[in-house]
Amino acid sequence: MFRMLCEVLTIIRLRVKTKTDSLVLYTASRCSVRAERVCSAHSVLAGGGLSQQSNHTEETAIEAMILAGNEKAEIAKKEGNVNEKGVLLITVIADGAWSKRSYKSGYNALSGVASIIGYKTKKVLYMGVRNKYCSICDKAKLNKNTASAHLCFKNWDGTSMAMEANIIVERFRQSIPMHNIIYNKLIGDGDSSVTKQLFLAKPYGGDVFIKQIECMNHILRNYLNRIVDIATNRKSSSGTVVPGFLQKVLKDKRLKLRCAITKAIVFRKTMTLQHNEKYELLKKDILNSPYHVFGDHSNCANFFCKGSKEGEVNLVPQMDHCGLFKEFLGARNIVAHHAESLIIT
Ligand SMILES: [Zn+2]
Ligand SMILES: [Zn+2]
Repeated sequence: MFRMLCEVLTIIRLRVKTKTDSLVLYTASRCSVRAERVCSAHSVLAGGGLSQQSNHTEETAIEAMILAGNEKAEIAKKEGNVNEKGVLLITVIADGAWSKRSYKSGYNALSGVASIIGYKTKKVLYMGVRNKYCSICDKAKLNKNTASAHLCFKNWDGTSMAMEANIIVERFRQSIPMHNIIYNKLIGDGDSSVTKQLFLAKPYGGDVFIKQIECMNHILRNYLNRIVDIATNRKSSSGTVVPGFLQKVLKDKRLKLRCAITKAIVFRKTMTLQHNEKYELLKKDILNSPYHVFGDHSNCANFFCKGSKEGEVNLVPQMDHCGLFKEFLGARNIVAHHAESLIIT
């Protein structure tokens, strides 16, 4: 599901660059929302004038979003997901994208888009855009003129980084007036600014807690990044020098470490158990996974492992001795902490 959202957002990124309508059509078909219903949101990205026709498409986009909200509400009703006031509670996925790809730093894109998608219906509930640029205003400024009356697309003066959180918070505020539902679980990329802004905004008042669920791809990607960071440190935090070959082993086995977790997720997901029982078992698997990968199979589950392979060396004692294992377990613990999110997503 999250992969689908990432795909949609990738296409939106392309759209920002190329302004090709066929991509919008493709995006729309992936989202199960008719093309003309979403293209108004994208047309804003083009930063040009808005025609009468796109005014119409904007209306149909809003209508489609309301319909998607209603469908979600029906599912939630059937499953009994309502609060004590009778308001429906649903899980949504949110993510943002910028017109310019940035990694960790250098967020200075001129446009940003964020979408909210119903987790069960897989339909777009909302797609919002923030623009720091308007071609008409810019042209007038360049010619030292005052821009003639136009529908201005510039709607953002803040930082590029803050665009996503702003769109998402605004839409959470609108979910009751627009859909009469509360988005009580949010599957996101763990973006701390979204979490912080939602916490500050309290869109449903102080007594409604929005549970944040991180997506599997992001949790595991961060895990790999942390492993690489730990493996490049010459000394562990205790000050002991880490032997080069152990640094290399840790870095080289990072995909195996990831794979041990994904294998456990797939297995635990299919079990016919209560949700909380599943993630407790998954948590155990995650906690044991480094021992399995580095050659200590004493606590491996049967579905997972048949014991040590011929000639396999248990590296855990050596890694432990120099402090490397303890350091690495910190990264593993973060993944284990997200066991519930991993079962859901
Ligand atoms: Zn303008
Ligand atoms: Zn094992």
